[in-house]
Amino acid sequence: MASFDSLHKPENNSPNIVNPLNIEEFRRQGHMIIDFLANYYQNIENYPVLSQVEPGYLKKLLPNSAPNIPEPIETILQDIQNHIIPGITHWQSPNYFAYFPSSGSVAGFLGEVLSTGFNVVGFNWISSPAATELESIVMDWLGKMLELPQTFLFAGNRGGGGVIQGTTCEAMLCTLTAARDQILSKIGRHNIGKLVVYGSDQTHCALLKAAKIAGIEPRNFRAIKTRKSAAFELSPESLQRAIRLDVEAGLIPFFLCATVGTTSTTAIDPIGTLCDVAKDYGMWVHVDAAYAGSACICPEFRHYIDGIEKANSFSLNAHKWFFTTLDCCCLWVKDPVALNNSLSTTAEFLTNKASDSKQVVDYKDWQICLSRRFRAMKLWLVLRSYGVANLRNFLRSHVDMAIRFQLLVESDDRFEVVVPRTFAMLCFRLLPTALEKKQNGFNKNGHKVDEEYTNGINRKLLGSVNASGQVYMTHTLVEGIYVLRFAVGATLTEDKHVIKAWKVVQETADAVLTAV
Ligand SMILES: *Cc1c(COP(=O)(O)O)cnc(C)c1O
Repeated sequence: MASFDSLHKPENNSPNIVNPLNIEEFRRQGHMIIDFLANYYQNIENYPVLSQVEPGYLKKLLPNSAPNIPEPIETILQDIQNHIIPGITHWQSPNYFAYFPSSGSVAGFLGEVLSTGFNVVGFNWISSPAATELESIVMDWLGKMLELPQTFLFAGNRGGGGVIQGTTCEAMLCTLTAARDQILSKIGRHNIGKLVVYGSDQTHCALLKAAKIAGIEPRNFRAIKTRKSAAFELSPESLQRAIRLDVEAGLIPFFLCATVGTTSTTAIDPIGTLCDVAKDYGMWVHVDAAYAGSACICPEFRHYIDGIEKANSFSLNAHKWFFTTLDCCCLWVKDPVALNNSLSTTAEFLTNKASDSKQVVDYKDWQICLSRRFRAMKLWLVLRSYGVANLRNFLRSHVDMAIRFQLLVESDDRFEVVVPRTFAMLCFRLLPTALEKKQNGFNKNGHKVDEEYTNGINRKLLGSVNASGQVYMTHTLVEGIYVLRFAVGATLTEDKHVIKAWKVVQETADAVLTAV
């Protein structure tokens, strides 16, 4: 039997770690870490934007096991500088133009620090009333900025409201699950194999994943074909046709995901008319505006979500283009009860008077997880620190920089804009004609200049541009055409960075073209 003594003998006698939440250490190290990050931002342009390390690089640099005795923060920060930063792709660099950027801000970062600092686990109202109430308030604020109909707002008193999810994937899974259970409660759970989900071939792959997790038959997933000539929008006629075929086959259409600002090309589905089609079949329509939703706080972009009053749910990622750190997906629903019916949990240890009174929101019943972070804090700081007018101007400045880049691309006849630009992202490529120097369709090295060859050259161009470390952009494939995506949205980006990025592209193209 263990003696009292042996149970309580400390394993090490290090004098400086008396308590993992020592307040003076918190103050000292906190200042050091903010300074470390401020220096990082000061020097961010000195690092290659895209990390240049090889897979497994870190294992070679770090010990095989955790230290048994404490190490000072100074040593740890030194290792972050030497070993971690080289393995970081610098999403906040002004020369970052890849994917959709994640625009950081002082308010976003420090709001995150505050919410992490309190470290509350706000699953229900009583577990931190401020976390829940602030979330409902900022979701109404943002909803009003977007001119969402009252049916999506708590203030509308029509049952609707907003919730902050981690990511769009979660928002899709939660709404799809709610829609599934709503229909199955009418037709019986044994009919799950008949349920059909619709999107376009441009819809984010998160929808397919959500459908799989929700138990929808993979054969009942419709990625309806879109066309470049129709700007990759999901046509209501195509949707109508697909639904009719499914109904004739005895299947049950129940969920449509429309997108405003697709990931590949920022295509925009016509929400209103799609909802009209879906309505005839009693379907749930979710509108995914993960990227472009933010722009809709500007009056000149708001029309892209016209018709939203006919949808059942709407989401955007504030961690993409709204100066709020990952993760912060804002989801509004008209009928939270449908979400609650699918996602609520009960347990004796969770019961409390406030929940029983039904006067409060328990956000655990609006999401997958039980425990949840105080994400509203950072969104609140962003909204208050900048104000609506500035936020609009920040977004407009990104669009203006994308327009500048577009003009540069258009001024060089070796290049083309492949898809018309709408927001702050441009799809472009080197034209086959630039590669020709050819006779009878073959270039001087005997390569046939066809689409496949052109794609290969553009892939090479992008690879060399990114390997230079000076900028980072990504690609997509549209109707078999390999295109480079240039997405403005990093908060530190200025005109001069856009001009430099174009210079890098042009000079790299010179080198690539000389070699072919
Ligand atoms: C980025 C993106 C997503 C995925 O967002 P997560 O928050 O990473 O799940 C979904 N849809 C669109 C249109 C996107 O651009």
